[in-house]
Amino acid sequence: LKGKIITVVGSGLIGRSWAMVFLSGGYKVKIYDNKPGQASGAITEIRKQLEELQQAKMLRGNLSAAEQLSLLSSHDDLQQALEGAFFVQECVFEDLEAKQTVFLEVENLVPESVIISSSTSCLMPSNVFSRVQNRTRCIISHPVNPPYYVRLVELVPHPETLSAVMDVAYSLMTDVGQAPVRLKKEIDGFALNRVQYAIIAESWRLVQDGVISVKDIDLVMSEGLGMRYAFIGPIETMHLNAPEGMEDYLQRYNEGMKRVLTTFGPVPDFSGEPAARIIKEVCELIPSEHEHLTARRERRDHLLMGLAKLKK
Ligand code: NAD
Repeated sequence: LKGKIITVVGSGLIGRSWAMVFLSGGYKVKIYDNKPGQASGAITEIRKQLEELQQAKMLRGNLSAAEQLSLLSSHDDLQQALEGAFFVQECVFEDLEAKQTVFLEVENLVPESVIISSSTSCLMPSNVFSRVQNRTRCIISHPVNPPYYVRLVELVPHPETLSAVMDVAYSLMTDVGQAPVRLKKEIDGFALNRVQYAIIAESWRLVQDGVISVKDIDLVMSEGLGMRYAFIGPIETMHLNAPEGMEDYLQRYNEGMKRVLTTFGPVPDFSGEPAARIIKEVCELIPSEHEHLTARRERRDHLLMGLAKLKK
């Protein structure tokens, strides 16, 4: 696959991140954006980031920042951007209509063999690709922000997607150092957001019901569950948490788990008085003014960088 061309359509936050990930694997990357000047601006931003990463010895892949940059080009013309590509990663606004229009245009400009991949977080493959003629080569490759440090990519097939297409996407993601997982069929929220929303819902209910503070429920994750979840998942956790493994765990904790699970409340409303209370509480810890949020995001990315290093 090396030396092959990947086209990134949409050069916002995620488009720029994908470009950096693909460059690190030695792929040629052509970025396109329909907002004039946006794609060339993305190159300036990527150059800055690659140079900073090189300085911090956190640059991914075997190539220098300059070598990676030499593989990158920006285009204001879609046809030119798609020329020679074997894989197209769409990263435009999270808007069904916008994405469907992009796929119509792309399909008209590329040969049948080209894989069309979407970064969508929340749209279902059967909706997002509904206006594509040949859907056997369509796939969702859903990244996690920031993809340079958080390597998971959820690969979600359309009902018509060929398994060979899933295999190419899987190999590509592995080759560039991401951690792909395959969903066997489409489902709303994919896997990551379903698990994330389950955690958000129960955290919300516990704060809303006056059981625990915002600060402390976040510590339950960051100092508790999150410590091991960076390295092992919930199923392995069960397997390791009883002396004789999973069967033993189920014998010991089956009843307790079911008892607690039946006490979970309904889906929260995330509005009204409870929301106002939770907003106030979180803003006392981290005010929502730009400078405070930016500082916390920088801290998050810095810590994720360290964790990514550790995991290697
Ligand atoms: P963004 O707003 O930062 O960037 C979108 C870019 O697409 C802009 O540069 C815009 O000019 C361009 N664009 C819009 N319409 C276009 C078109 N027709 N042709 C070409 N370019 C077009 O958005 P983002 O955060 O990068 O999100 C992009 C996609 O990635 C969304 O589908 C989003 O759901 C998904 N995603 C985002 C995150 C995240 O945390 N931000 C995580 C995973 C997936």
